[in-house]
Amino acid sequence: MTPECQYPICRGSVPPALEQEGLCPLHFIRKIEARCREIRREAIRGPLPLHRRAEINQYLYGQAIILAQIATSGTRLPDDTRPCLLSVFLTLINVCERVARASGEEQEEAPLAPLPPLTAAWQAAAAK
Ligand SMILES: [Zn+2]
Repeated sequence: MTPECQYPICRGSVPPALEQEGLCPLHFIRKIEARCREIRREAIRGPLPLHRRAEINQYLYGQAIILAQIATSGTRLPDDTRPCLLSVFLTLINVCERVARASGEEQEEAPLAPLPPLTAAWQAAAAK
């Protein structure tokens, strides 16, 4: 039996990629959007310390991986959730850039290095 979303009143099903979150895809996306709004506000207040930027980048990376798992796992997404899933990827990109800009980092001059697991995933994908 597929678990139900833990969000109040929602009866959406929780795909395997979100079992730890206990949310349906739509409420997982809404949760990311809310968290990204908080991060944007934090970045607007001024430069972020290096450790905080690292925490934020790790969060953004983790959420992107989960979203990619949802998108590629064969989970049937409602038609109205698909555009939201694509949109939240754009939100993650924009927040990542905002955090870098708020810290005085120019994206063209100093791109963030991919995190090691992602690099390994790219190499594995390229080997196929
Ligand atoms: Zn839900």
